Amino acid sequence: LTLLAIESSCDDTGAAVFRNGQLLSNVVAGQAVHEQYGGVVPELASRAHQQHLLPVVTAALRQAGISKNELDAVAVTQGPGLLGSLLVGNLFAKTLALALGKPLLAVNHMRAHILAHFIRAPRPAFPFLCLTVSGGHTQLVVVRSPADMEILGQTIDDAAGEAFDKTAKLLGLPYPGGPRLDKLAQTGNPLRFPFPEGALEGYNFSFSGLKTSVLYFLKKQTAANPAFVQENLADLCASIQHTIVQTLLRQLKRAAYATGLRQVALAGGVAANSGLRQGLQALAEAEGWEVFIPDFEFCTDNAAMVGQAALFQYEAGDFASQLTSPDPRLKLT
Ligand code: ATP
Ligand code: FE
Repeated sequence: LTLLAIESSCDDTGAAVFRNGQLLSNVVAGQAVHEQYGGVVPELASRAHQQHLLPVVTAALRQAGISKNELDAVAVTQGPGLLGSLLVGNLFAKTLALALGKPLLAVNHMRAHILAHFIRAPRPAFPFLCLTVSGGHTQLVVVRSPADMEILGQTIDDAAGEAFDKTAKLLGLPYPGGPRLDKLAQTGNPLRFPFPEGALEGYNFSFSGLKTSVLYFLKKQTAANPAFVQENLADLCASIQHTIVQTLLRQLKRAAYATGLRQVALAGGVAANSGLRQGLQALAEAEGWEVFIPDFEFCTDNAAMVGQAALFQYEAGDFASQLTSPDPRLKLT
């Protein structure tokens, strides 16, 4: 089975090729155009997808050494995401599948983030517990099979990635601030500035309180000392990161206890965070869990994870029709 997968849910244009279950190529084009606005501008994202999609697909096919006539199926992200961005990938994939006379697979982006664990070994065995931490989502999921997932808890406001990006913005770091905050945090004291944690009752999360608390703290401090942020940048970054990581790990631990699951997985772009990785490794050692974290290229938005999810759907006979349309609010279950 030779499969082409396309991802265009937000601001990364991706294409990947699988043959007989093996990933042959995984190409992603980012969009620098949003940096100057401090966030993703949906209209500009759609236009950039239109410019990037054909070159990205062409590169993925070339790197895989596959001609489009050899494809047996075409997969595409159906949602959730930005409607205009999803439409570009969806229309492209439907047109290609129709022209080739091959089946189309419509993939749920959040399931794909989780199923990224199956692209390469080590792969978790079902069932396992997955903490998905991305730019738009924070979810604790029991993964029983590729098609059977249950959300135990999720954020009631901002996502973990958003919490990183928004607090980084308050510190004057350029967008997206998450990776920059992580880097600065490495030389800072995580216990210097205590901020409120966002673990709620049950397994839910809330990160908007952290953002507000950082905002008011900085206002007060800079009124007394305008150079406060510059002078304490590393400690501020480390303290914010520590708070977010502690919140995530607290709920993960609760969920692991309640479900009895001992295989624990991270998914989504925030899985790249060094504090979260270290914190989870330490917790796993103490608890005797087995930890799974995909390679970074499979954590942020990419088409390989979409292809992997599509392979499971192909096996299950879960195909999409030409009448399928993107769903910006597609739910995990
Ligand atoms: P969604 O899948 O929910 O629609 P997304 O796919 O756009 O969101 P990802 O690409 O999975 O999100 O992740 C991007 C997020 O990860 C951004 O918020 C970014 O700041 C954050 N991020 C990436 N690397 C790090 C890091 N090292 N530390 C903290 N945050 C990070
Ligand atoms: Fe994503």
